[in-house]
Amino acid sequence: MPHPQSKKSIAIIGAGPVGIEAALYAKSAGYQVRILEKGEVAHNVQQWKHVTFFSPFGMNHSQLGEKLLTQQGIPLPGDEEYLSGRAYLERYLLPLANSQFLKPHIITGCEALAVSRRGILKNEHIGDGQRAHFPFRILTRDRQGREKIYESDYLIDASGSYGNPNWLGDGGIPAPGELANRERIQYGLEDIAGSAKSRYAGKTTLLVGDGHSAATSIVALAQLMEENPHTRATWITRGEGETPLLPIPGDPLKERERIVREANRLTAHPNVRRIKNAAVNALEYDERSEKFRVEADTPEGALLLEVDHIIANVGYSPDNDIYRELQVHECYASRAPMKLAAALLGQSSADCLTRPAPDAQVLRNPEPDFYIIGMKSYGKNSNFLLKTGFEQIRDVFRLISGDNALNLYRSEAAAVEE
Ligand SMILES: Cc1cc2nc3c(=O)[nH]c(=O)nc-3n(C[C@H](O)[C@H](O)[C@H](O)COP(=O)(O)OP(=O)(O)OC[C@H]3O[C@@H](n4cnc5c(N)ncnc54)[C@H](O)[C@@H]3O)c2cc1C
Repeated sequence: MPHPQSKKSIAIIGAGPVGIEAALYAKSAGYQVRILEKGEVAHNVQQWKHVTFFSPFGMNHSQLGEKLLTQQGIPLPGDEEYLSGRAYLERYLLPLANSQFLKPHIITGCEALAVSRRGILKNEHIGDGQRAHFPFRILTRDRQGREKIYESDYLIDASGSYGNPNWLGDGGIPAPGELANRERIQYGLEDIAGSAKSRYAGKTTLLVGDGHSAATSIVALAQLMEENPHTRATWITRGEGETPLLPIPGDPLKERERIVREANRLTAHPNVRRIKNAAVNALEYDERSEKFRVEADTPEGALLLEVDHIIANVGYSPDNDIYRELQVHECYASRAPMKLAAALLGQSSADCLTRPAPDAQVLRNPEPDFYIIGMKSYGKNSNFLLKTGFEQIRDVFRLISGDNALNLYRSEAAAVEE
């Protein structure tokens, strides 16, 4: 088991799958680790736990996690199983987070509001390794509103982007009326065919978006259409292709292939109206009728729609405000850290499964010892996979330790000691 040069502390923002796995790696490598989580463990996955993972469990867990749970006598799902978010949490991530190995290091209900360094400002020691001598300061707020500073030698931002959805208006800014009705619009993946069924059954829903989240929503709405034939959907997509989603030829991920195929087929459903090459121009909510009036721009001109609900599955963006006082070079298109974004450039339409892993160096920022990993590291690019997250974790600890061969994911090295 490698030992870091000196006992150094690592703070991780976000106890999502990547934050938890990073903490497991950090602790296994001998670092002092603290995870700051604004909600509960895996707060974001909890929001979409009714959704089935499109990658099999074998791709969604690490060897360190497997080792720890096996030591504790907790049986793991099979590598080929496609788990729901709920099953993944119950059978893997929560047992990990609740283990004595990790639990004492996780602080839930603790939101990171801003980070900087003790004693220096953003515009000092520009691009200069000297900054590493000043510990990170993390301003946090707990559920009672109490604010507190934590300090660490290394800082890993694994705070995801699911909590920061894009606006549905044309051009990615709010449509007139959207800001005022933000609370009435569903931006994530509600359990349409489950706990939220009574809200959508027999109603007309406007769905905006043409990614995998939109595909998941339309498939769930179609399930309701079978149960209640008055359920309807109007599906607005920006694309003008015959099908809303572009299938990946020979997609090796069968669950992903299934959801894309089913969603595309639903454009022919009598209760689904697809409007392609369109964008939402404006919306308003009428309290008396409890309906939205939406104006859409289409190739045929402005179209007025009246709907009961709006689901905006138009992607997510990172919340980069947290680290605005650090020296981070961001991509002007994706808002991801620049070196990683450049490495991913041109790959956004490629299958995230087959692309080569970028070099570890792309995880470095001008700010020394600060790393952005997980979903957030991809910025607006939605192609992130947990498998990539594990590679990022391995690479970050190579950079931190200075040991280029360090790999606790090799099975013989995957030793977890209580
Ligand atoms: C519906 C859906 C299905 C997906 N399916 C797959 C799949 O099948 N296979 C796959 O490989 N990937 C999948 N992904 C992509 C990705 O792997 C997941 O989004 C995964 O949850 C990313 O993990 P993460 O830890 O980076 O971020 P998240 O899971 O988003 O976790 C971030 C955590 O940080 C916390 N946080 C945020 N801000 C702060 C703050 N300021 N202070 C403290 N804590 C904060 C959040 O509460 C959250 O707990 C899917 C994504 C979605 C949305």
